[in-house]
Amino acid sequence: MRTKFVVVTGSLMSGMGKGLITSSILKILDMYGYKVLPVKFDGYLNYDCGTMNPYRHGEVFVLDDKSEVDMDFGMYERFLEKPLFGDLSITGGKLFSTIIKKERKGEYLGEDVQIIPHLTNEILTRIKGIAEKNDLDVMVIEVGGTIGDIENSYFVEAMRQLMLKEKVVFASLTYLPLLEVVGEQKTKPTQIAYRAMMALGIKPTFLFCRTEGELQKKTKAKLSLFTNIDESHIFDDSTLSHLYTIPLHFMDQGFDKMLIEELGLRKRSVSKEKLNRLKKLNDALLHPKNDVNVGIVGKYVELRDAYISVKEALEHSGAALDSRVNIRWIESESLESGDGRKYLEDLDGVIVPGGFGKRGIEGMINAISYARESKTPYLGLCLGMQLMSIEYARNVCGMKGANSTEFDPKTRYKIIYTLPTQRRQEYKGATMRLGTWEGRIIKKDSIAYRAYKSGVFYERHRHRYEFNNKYMKDMERYGFVISSVTPTDRLVETVEWKDSFGIGTQAHPELKSTPDQPAPLFMEFVKASIAKRKGKSVP
Ligand code: GLN
Repeated sequence: MRTKFVVVTGSLMSGMGKGLITSSILKILDMYGYKVLPVKFDGYLNYDCGTMNPYRHGEVFVLDDKSEVDMDFGMYERFLEKPLFGDLSITGGKLFSTIIKKERKGEYLGEDVQIIPHLTNEILTRIKGIAEKNDLDVMVIEVGGTIGDIENSYFVEAMRQLMLKEKVVFASLTYLPLLEVVGEQKTKPTQIAYRAMMALGIKPTFLFCRTEGELQKKTKAKLSLFTNIDESHIFDDSTLSHLYTIPLHFMDQGFDKMLIEELGLRKRSVSKEKLNRLKKLNDALLHPKNDVNVGIVGKYVELRDAYISVKEALEHSGAALDSRVNIRWIESESLESGDGRKYLEDLDGVIVPGGFGKRGIEGMINAISYARESKTPYLGLCLGMQLMSIEYARNVCGMKGANSTEFDPKTRYKIIYTLPTQRRQEYKGATMRLGTWEGRIIKKDSIAYRAYKSGVFYERHRHRYEFNNKYMKDMERYGFVISSVTPTDRLVETVEWKDSFGIGTQAHPELKSTPDQPAPLFMEFVKASIAKRKGKSVP
């Protein structure tokens, strides 16, 4: 087959940045003009990420085709600047459900159905199918978890088998702890992990070393001696100030040339235009002119990964506007007591991001009241839009106790509710409005129109509740602005304040933001926050 494969594995521990290595490899190959796609293997038995807890697993990322996938897909999309699709996420849950369905249909009649070869063949069939259908030069596969986990063992085995027939290059990420007293980067854990890989029949071609401080020359030599990996194929992956610097950092070490060589790809030169764009982005991120302080008020703030796309989207808009966006993470429950406002007072902008469940809701509503009353720019994302509507209903329209039926099913004013058609679904996922939806702007004189510069926009969704159109007219009479709706059902997409900058969107625009195309609503929000900081009146 013409497609070549890069398989990214991790050793020692998770959370070291395999996703970033994978994204950087994608970016580098893309800048050279090769046709690439990522695939992510995840060993858990959930069918997808839809039912996972963001507190444990980080943000649930949503693709155009409604798939709920691992947050690594967010990083792949932000680096590749192109939309991906759900089949690229291969989970244990998907594989086992296919195998069991096939077995019940009698497709393996007379056979013992086994991990090898049935499950491993299922993996190989899927990836080869994707590679052929998309006519890929290179597929970059990230194996979730670390080598030695029971959960991903059948994926690792499938990759060993893939080597028999196809060109496969393994890139492994490792961690070198620094023993401060002697100032030495220790290689023994990596040596042991390397042996474990060899025992599974896998020999990494490239080794990426996550370190404290730069990878030392003598450490590299030692690693090479114990692993038989040439020093030129061992790379420094020390912590840098920006994610987007990593591909450039690897290229500075000659990784691009070596990768192309090892894969046996037809030689090409890098696109100057794409490379310059990446360099420019790095410059903008490293040397911004302005600073702006934004508060994110949520209930999962302890785990930053839960809002990773919001953070990234702010960074994209910041870079485009020559500004560093400093984020203050505010636990919403801390805003429920009387003096909570002190956490908000010096902010230039406030965001309430997405979320589920009752905890911390009143704190978020307090933050929104504060933003509205103090004319601090506000951006509400999904839940943040629903709460912006509730806050307005309660505090401006006099609808005491207004709420969402998610938090108070008996509320007198059901400002946010589920549509009757949604209430009869059996499966959890089926009740969600997911994937990309069209929004139509119905008020030209609005933030939404200014942001999207057109009457139509497409954004990704993931929520169960909606604005209750029964209250539309009443709230508009009090100055609440409903600026966009879906074309057929007229589900509310964006709401706004009239007297100061405030916009709530039922969508998650952060999921589509990339450095080249920052999310339009984030751009308007950051612009307004910069203006507020400079003491100018906010549009
Ligand atoms: N919990 C709300 C809903 O289900 C908001 C969801 C979200 O913010 N993604 O509609």
